[in-house]
Amino acid sequence: MDFRSDTVTRPTVAMREAMLKAQVGDDVYGEDPTVNALEEKAAAMLGFEAALYGISGTQTNLLGLLAHCERGHEVIVGQTAHTYRWEAGGMAVLGSIQPQPLDQRADGTMDLAAIEAAIKPDDAHYAITRLIALENTWGGKVLPPDYAPKVRALANARGLTTHLDGARLFNAAVYTAAAPGAAVDAARTICRSFDSVSVCLSKGLGAPVGSLLLGSKPLIAKARRMRKMLGGGMRQAGVIAASGIHALEHHIERLKEDHDNAALLATGLKEASRGQLKIDAPQTNILWAEVPAPLFAGFNEHLKTHGVIVSGAYGKQRWVTHLDVSRDDVERAVDIAAQYFDRVT
Ligand SMILES: *Cc1c(COP(=O)(O)O)cnc(C)c1O
Repeated sequence: MDFRSDTVTRPTVAMREAMLKAQVGDDVYGEDPTVNALEEKAAAMLGFEAALYGISGTQTNLLGLLAHCERGHEVIVGQTAHTYRWEAGGMAVLGSIQPQPLDQRADGTMDLAAIEAAIKPDDAHYAITRLIALENTWGGKVLPPDYAPKVRALANARGLTTHLDGARLFNAAVYTAAAPGAAVDAARTICRSFDSVSVCLSKGLGAPVGSLLLGSKPLIAKARRMRKMLGGGMRQAGVIAASGIHALEHHIERLKEDHDNAALLATGLKEASRGQLKIDAPQTNILWAEVPAPLFAGFNEHLKTHGVIVSGAYGKQRWVTHLDVSRDDVERAVDIAAQYFDRVT
């Protein structure tokens, strides 16, 4: 039972069948019908003019940043945002873009006044502030629905553009959706505040590989050139793009099961630990458990010995639910956790 990340999912039989049957061509010539279909489908779904298929979320975030910014431009971004903290400094290394990180509050937002104050005046001393980048979900938390529209209004007023790292956009959408079946509408609503959005197909959506960048036609044309420059031009990529189409058609609404499983896991672990694990109710598929320091190593070892793997460090575990962990698995993992706390308490 692998709770480390939703990236560990393996393609289902139906997904593999879709991949087997995919029509292919050379995508660098724009001739792969399946890649084209994936890009057109995603763009229509999320309300953008165009989309670009990329290898990873790191790549599609980078392509977005490179498409918005020139050398010497600046991006306002969260202190713990993936684009700033977890992408090997790509925007600075490959784009000569300066990140301006700002602290985030417990809900993942940056203070609007702090954003405003970080926008540089037109003065030769400063980099040119160009873009505001947000992330949703952030550590499994969904940004408050009224936040991105406010950031967008601020960006518009100051002549800036906006990018969303929506690696788990559809988890946020399923959480905010008004009713079952309304996740795509909710996703489109979230996207409305952004000039570009990056979405992972390889996380909760269950594709083996792939991400999408969405934006206007000119932005995507620029990103396409950058993708080629970075060695990301793919040839008969329809074989993998088919998994993305299958994911968008079959794996969005089911994310609710992962969220329900995370909630069940949270309640179960709290009970099993007799309150020793500090866990906030998860909104989506990521659960953080604070483990008392003296128990951290022992608890992790016990879980591992019994076939349960989680990630985390410094006394905090991260449990992620996904396509390849069932409700039964969650119940078994809770039982295994209970055995440990029965022994140590
Ligand atoms: C996973 C993730 C990405 C992209 O990661 P890749 O492993 O490069 O696909 C980007 N942003 C966030 C918030 C993520 O969780």
